[in-house]
Amino acid sequence: MAITDSRYLEVLARLQAAATRFRRPPPQLLAVSKRQSAEAIAALHGAGQRAFGENYVQEAMAKQAELAGLAGIEWHLIGHLQTNKAREAARHFDWVQSVDRQRLVDALARERSAELPSLNLLVQVNVDDENSKSGCRIDEADGLCAAIATHPNLALRGLMAIPAPHPDFEMRRAAFRRMRELFDRLKIDHPGMDTLSLGMSEDAELAVEEGSTMVRIGTALFGKRD
Ligand SMILES: *Cc1c(COP(=O)(O)O)cnc(C)c1O
Repeated sequence: MAITDSRYLEVLARLQAAATRFRRPPPQLLAVSKRQSAEAIAALHGAGQRAFGENYVQEAMAKQAELAGLAGIEWHLIGHLQTNKAREAARHFDWVQSVDRQRLVDALARERSAELPSLNLLVQVNVDDENSKSGCRIDEADGLCAAIATHPNLALRGLMAIPAPHPDFEMRRAAFRRMRELFDRLKIDHPGMDTLSLGMSEDAELAVEEGSTMVRIGTALFGKRD
């Protein structure tokens, strides 16, 4: 068995075990392929994975061009998106998980072609209020969700966050919990919201325990990035 397959099966087993243990549905797996080659992505696709996450628009577009023939592949943008890249993002991705300001919502709505299916969006929340991070404030999420909902070519799917990488997992749990509460509250007005994107290689189990529906995993699938 190739190393890709064994890491993939291991991650799927981890997620399934967490779901069973915490009585949650197993989360969707987003394979974070930043700084990984097109070949590595093709290998994981061959093992059955369909959803891939990239941080940079240009890097993703180069790989998409190489992988154009892969059936059913789904591209998620998870890195900070500059407004001047919104045009390319709106054309080359199926999901953008890093929507954190009104101008970006407007730009994506303007640039998403009516011929394509609606662009799936997650509002990124700066859940630990870190200066260095992108993401809106918790109290801004409501307004951004409402703004997205006005555009027929955008589909509001939920929320995403990258909590501070606190060594104390109870601090991360508190951040996940704030996100879950926000998600449950916003879902009342936006019943189409079905995705809470929380958890990475290190803390996927904790995220599942706290109600994540999509984990974003890089290192545990591909090995350490150089
Ligand atoms: C890199 C990255 C991940 C994956 O991190 P790993 O620790 O390698 O699993 C998840 N989400 C975002 C936003 C990332 O930038």
